Amino acid sequence: MEPASSVEIAQALAEQLPPLSANAAAVEADRCLYCYDAPCTHACPTHIDIPRFIKKIASRNLRGSAETIFASNLLGATCARVCPVQELCEGACVLGADHKPISIGRLQRYAMDYARDHRIYPSVKAAPSGLSVAVIGAGPAGLSCAGELAKLGHAVTIFEKRSLPGGLSTYGIIALREPVGVAIDEARMIEALGVEIRTGIEFGDNLTLAELQDNFDSIVIGVGLGRTPELGIEGEEAIVDGLELIEASKTCAESLKIGRNVIVIGAGNTAIDCATVARRLGADRVTMVYRRTDREMTCYEHEYDFARKEGIEFRFLTQPARVLLGGGLPVGLECLRVELGAPDASGRPSPNAVSGSEFVLHADQIVKAIGQQRPSLAKLLGLETKKSFIAVDDNFQTSVPGVNAIGDCIRATGAASTVMAVEDGKLAAAAIHRQFASLSTTAEDN
Ligand SMILES: Cc1cc2nc3c(=O)[nH]c(=O)nc-3n(C[C@H](O)[C@H](O)[C@H](O)COP(=O)(O)OP(=O)(O)OC[C@H]3O[C@@H](n4cnc5c(N)ncnc54)[C@H](O)[C@@H]3O)c2cc1C
Ligand code: SF4
Repeated sequence: MEPASSVEIAQALAEQLPPLSANAAAVEADRCLYCYDAPCTHACPTHIDIPRFIKKIASRNLRGSAETIFASNLLGATCARVCPVQELCEGACVLGADHKPISIGRLQRYAMDYARDHRIYPSVKAAPSGLSVAVIGAGPAGLSCAGELAKLGHAVTIFEKRSLPGGLSTYGIIALREPVGVAIDEARMIEALGVEIRTGIEFGDNLTLAELQDNFDSIVIGVGLGRTPELGIEGEEAIVDGLELIEASKTCAESLKIGRNVIVIGAGNTAIDCATVARRLGADRVTMVYRRTDREMTCYEHEYDFARKEGIEFRFLTQPARVLLGGGLPVGLECLRVELGAPDASGRPSPNAVSGSEFVLHADQIVKAIGQQRPSLAKLLGLETKKSFIAVDDNFQTSVPGVNAIGDCIRATGAASTVMAVEDGKLAAAAIHRQFASLSTTAEDN
């Protein structure tokens, strides 16, 4: 296991899709039918007026195109790169039935890159309201909410525990899809709207709820989820945490080491990302191990296809039982064969390990990517929960008055995604603004 140099990491994981040239963008924009009541706009969780922004690219009005995107989604640069467009906007494109759907994501990136290069920021038209909001967490949900509140004239401070803003856009989404710089530039744009981002401050550690309640008119929690949970198997201490592996690859950490024969436990999008990182950084063989079959995998179909094209192998109906160590390092994973039974609480067939079916898969590195722990803040603050996620009402209010929650930490059902976190932030900002307005009306009436 050799540590990769930062140059090697950057080259192997350079952004996969090149930007569109001006000519390619114009040709692609001209293919759009500019549908009335466009299905793509309905399919976008932030409801960007897609035909409108594409039409503005066709007429070379790139400022207008960027402003159209910003009106619905302040993090359009990130979303253009990471959205599962096949499942969302492009999946709904009417041209998809017989032709190739419009490359909405790449056109959006074209307009957003133009905005970044020409320092075009969303405009703040509202006068200062004199009201303030504390946002905990500078991930997509927190940044979106903070930016929208700033546009409405409120003073916003984000408290972020890490040294860089951006959440999983900075530390979790592999550089092939989104380089760190894109997320950082976007956070700087949110700051340009007047938002203060204070990094290195962990709520619950060096900041308390009482302090925030004393100093702010409303509080928003956008802390995402936690680390990778325990598998609970012997030798687990020798297993690498998938989120840490990806983070090391994104920050080009010199300490990043990749084995020659790597096993990734899990079959969601994060597991595929880990396998891709390992493969691109030199592993000869990468095998993904999953308890169920390809029918139950939680990764997107296009991610599964991508992984197979990368030469990643899959072992289905296989349950890890024990890490085999040699000199303290992994040499293999003892597994059990699995048979599927009746559906469990997840609605998928339950995986039942067959006793006596032990077999060994050899590996010199084992990575686990089996999801993220539920938000621990809920317990700390005594917030009501739903399936261990923070419970909120339709206006994103938690069970504690004046405390709202958004993003992955409330996503009790369905797949979490960046664009959904951005939409939560936008809707929560609007709800807080309405709440402020109703409070001032009540105060005037009295
Ligand atoms: C490996 C991986 C790959 C992914 N790939 C994609 C993809 O390709 N496309 C897609 O749409 N989605 C993807 N997702 C999902 C997407 O990244 C998330 O849905 C999105 O980032 C959620 O945003 P968030 O702001 O709710 O949380 P996060 O992005 O997790 O941000 C939460 C922020 O809160 C901070 N924080 C936490 N606790 C505290 C505290 N106590 N005090 C202060 N700050 C705190 C964290 O440091 C972090 O910055 C991926 C997720 C993972 C794990
Ligand atoms: S934000 Fe995402 S889903 Fe919406 S139009 Fe852009 S790429 Fe498509």
